[in-house]
Amino acid sequence: MEALKAKGIKPALAVIIVGDDPASKIYVKNKKLACEFCGIESLEYALPAETTQEELIALIEKLNNDHNVSGILCQLPLPKGLDEEAVINTIKYEKDVDAFHPVNVGKIMIGNFDFLPCTPAGVMELIKESGIDVTGKKCVVVGRSNIVGKPMSMLLLHKNGTVTVCHSKTQDLAAECREADILVAAVGVPELITGDMVKEGAVVIDVGMNRLPDKRLVGDVAFDEALEKASAITPVPGGVGPMTIAMLMKNTVKAAELNQTGK
Ligand code: NDP
Repeated sequence: MEALKAKGIKPALAVIIVGDDPASKIYVKNKKLACEFCGIESLEYALPAETTQEELIALIEKLNNDHNVSGILCQLPLPKGLDEEAVINTIKYEKDVDAFHPVNVGKIMIGNFDFLPCTPAGVMELIKESGIDVTGKKCVVVGRSNIVGKPMSMLLLHKNGTVTVCHSKTQDLAAECREADILVAAVGVPELITGDMVKEGAVVIDVGMNRLPDKRLVGDVAFDEALEKASAITPVPGGVGPMTIAMLMKNTVKAAELNQTGK
């Protein structure tokens, strides 16, 4: 950050939130706090749920052309009637700190990227910092969404893992999971992965964040049961979530370098 300052580059993250989804509001607040902590300027654009597609696209185009804005993030999901794909495609790919734009997705596939999507990047950072070598390991990713499951499997493949991707049509999920040396759950079903689905000594990474009716936040893994088997395991909350935000900050700094903002 000091090196950037010396070059006159000031990272600034524009966060757009449309409507008043309570979970989205919490995520946006946490991103703002992280920006403050890191010395990144945070610009919040809170738009009403009635915002039209044209208004949203016009705002993104304005931010694309603003030399003081390094990165742009539009908090998903959007209210009904707004086209998420069009929004993602409008964000200039050099400012796409979520790495959802098709250009960034393609670059990740090739392995020559500027940005990585924050959650899978956070998982890879946890793996690396824990001294776990992915090479030759059987990796099972449960979930195939564009924002978590698919890029996650690609990043594990880049690190020479042998990767299986499971989803709702997988025939025998338990059997697939039991094969995993590294098991990543990104499903959105509370405690779907039970202890009997975890191989002895496996590394278990729980991306899931599920709010139960009693307000408790739980992951996709039954933590206490999986803990008995795992050699390493991430908790929910406090595991992958904070890493996601850390990677967003990293991407914003990278975007500031790419766009030379603030000069
Ligand atoms: P999506 O709903 O987009 O995708 C869920 C995936 O899980 C789909 O591929 C779906 O399969 C699969 N799936 C659903 N049910 C089952 C099942 N019973 N067995 C096997 N696979 C199943 O979710 P996301 O990827 O966006 O998010 C996943 C979880 O991660 C959520 O809990 C979300 O809140 C959390 N999350 C956490 C983040 C963090 O920072 N910690 C960031 C982003 C997400 P199919 O494709 O066949 O429908």
